[in-house]
Amino acid sequence: MIPYGRQSINEADIQAVVEVLRSDYLTQGPAVPRFEQAVAGYCGAPYAVAVNSATSALHIACLALGLQPGDQLWTVPNTFVASANCALYCGAKVDFVDIDPDSLNLSIGHLERKLAASERDGKLPKVVVPVHFSGQPCAMEEIWKLSKRYGFYVIEDASHAIGASYHGHKVGDCAFSHATVLSFHPVKIVTTGEGGVVLTADTGLHDRLKLLRNHGITREQRLMLDPSEGPWYYQQVALGYNYRMTDMQAALGVSQMLRLDELVGHRRFLADRYDQKLGSLPLILPRRSPGCESAWHLYVVQLAAAVRKARRAVFDELRAEGIGVNVHYIPVHTQPHYRNLGFAPGDFPASEAYYKAAISLPLYAGLSERDQDFVVAKLANIID
Ligand SMILES: *Cc1c(COP(=O)(O)O)cnc(C)c1O
Repeated sequence: MIPYGRQSINEADIQAVVEVLRSDYLTQGPAVPRFEQAVAGYCGAPYAVAVNSATSALHIACLALGLQPGDQLWTVPNTFVASANCALYCGAKVDFVDIDPDSLNLSIGHLERKLAASERDGKLPKVVVPVHFSGQPCAMEEIWKLSKRYGFYVIEDASHAIGASYHGHKVGDCAFSHATVLSFHPVKIVTTGEGGVVLTADTGLHDRLKLLRNHGITREQRLMLDPSEGPWYYQQVALGYNYRMTDMQAALGVSQMLRLDELVGHRRFLADRYDQKLGSLPLILPRRSPGCESAWHLYVVQLAAAVRKARRAVFDELRAEGIGVNVHYIPVHTQPHYRNLGFAPGDFPASEAYYKAAISLPLYAGLSERDQDFVVAKLANIID
C-alpha cells in the first residue's frame, strides 16, 4: 500500500536518538532546549515550549491564555478534533466558523459576520484557532485585525504548516497571533514520534506554558511565591500536567529540523507534479493563496460535479489498487460528541460540501515519482 503520509527517517536521525539512549537523560533533558531553539530559530519566534503532542500544546496554550468555564473558543469544522477539544478540556464552550470553499481555511467573511452578531449578544469568543489546513496559511493579517477590534486571542493551529510562509513571514513567527502550535506526529512534515510545540513572542505566556507542561512546578525563584528553602526546593504555583517531551524525541526533532527545508522542498516538488498531471481531469485541485507558500502536509483533490462516480466508489477503487488515500476532515461538528453538545449536520455547509467531495492523495517526502505516476494513472482511469 502506498500510504497517504509517512515519516522520513535517515541514519543521522537514528544516530541522534541512539546517542540519547547512551546518555544520562531520557526524559526532558538537554536535548529539549536544543530542539526548542531549533524550532524557534527556524520559525523566527522568540520562544518555543516542547511538549508530548500538539494536542497537549493546544491545551496548555488555551490554559495559559486563561480560557476557562464561561468562555468560548472558535475554530473551523474542517480540522482534526484536537483543535476544538482543547476548549472542552478547559471547561469552555466550542463554536465553529465555516470555511472558505476556495482556500478551505477559515472564512474571513463568516468570521466577521459571526463576531458582529456575537458582539450584539455579548458572547464574543476569548480564543480563535485558525487552522492552516493542508499547510496553506490562513489570512492571518485579517484575523489579527479582527482580534484587535473584538479583543480575542489567536492560537494558530499550524500542525500542518511548519515550513510554510505567509507574506514573507515564516508560519510560527507569531507576528499575527499570540501563540502557534506545531505537531511532530509521524504523518506531519517533520516528526519526533509524538510531539508538539507552542511558539510565542510573549514572555509571560512562555513562563506559564513551561509551568503547565510540568505539573505547575517551578525551580526558578522569580516564579515562586515564597523564598526558596534550599537547592532541593521547588514550588507548585499552578495546576499543570505531565506533558513533557522525552530527550529521545527532542534529539530526533533536532535532527529532523536540519532536514526540514529539504523535506518540504520535496513535498512542493511532488505537489507541483500533481498539479501538472491532474490539471486536465474533472477535479478541483488545491488552491494556492497569493503571497503564501504551503508546507504541503496534504494534497487534497475534490471530485468535480462532472465525475459520475460517488466519492465512496472512487475511494474504494483507489484503495483496492493499493493506494492509501484518506479523507481530511470529517467536519468536527458532525462527530457524535459534538452533536451531543447541540451541533447538527447542516450547521456549516461549506465544510460539509467540501468533505463529501474530498480525497487526500499520497504525499510525503519519500514518495517516488514512479509511485506518484501510478496514483495519477489509476485516479485518471477511475474517474474518466
Ligand atoms: C495532527 C493534528 C493535531 C494533533 O496533533 P498531535 O501531535 O497528534 O496531538 C491537531 N490539529 C491538527 C490540525 C492536526 O492535524
